[in-house]
Amino acid sequence: MITDLVQIKRLGSLKLEENKRLRVHMKSHPVADRRLRRIGEEVENAIDCTQCANCCRTATARLRDREIDTLAKYIGTSRRDFLRNYCEQTEDEGLILKRTEQGCIFLENNLCSVYEVRPMTCEDFPHLVRGPGSLVSRMWVMPERATYCPIAYNTLEAFKEASGFSSNK
Ligand code: SF4
Ligand code: SF4
Repeated sequence: MITDLVQIKRLGSLKLEENKRLRVHMKSHPVADRRLRRIGEEVENAIDCTQCANCCRTATARLRDREIDTLAKYIGTSRRDFLRNYCEQTEDEGLILKRTEQGCIFLENNLCSVYEVRPMTCEDFPHLVRGPGSLVSRMWVMPERATYCPIAYNTLEAFKEASGFSSNK
């Protein structure tokens, strides 16, 4: 299992096109969802996210409307002030958590300061085991995630083996 973030960036970038081909391959060589989920869970269990936090530094965190109230209450502020001080409206992704130079506004020394009430998108990240729609439909974002997330990188490698994918094709 590779967890070193420099290696993940190097290998994930090197395999970007290969990982895009994996998505196409998995459509024509389906593996049971249950098996893929189990593979994803095994990788998740083997990696300590508190030693990484690279998604919080790299990816944006989308907010659902009801999460605004939950987070505002948790940090002891009003919905209005929460929206003003902690959120940002974006064209592509809608409402997201504000970011600093270090990443998400709630990231403190590799740990999430609102962990108990973090948005669902954070809880489910990198969306290989859990997430909206089918796994195959979520696969299109995975090649890019495999350039910074050790869970995504190692899971895609395990998917290649499970689906009989050959990198030489
Ligand atoms: S809310 Fe917490 S888990 Fe989500 S991106 Fe921010 S620091 Fe990370
Ligand atoms: S989900 Fe991926 S990028 Fe985020 S902390 Fe865990 S291993 Fe790191």
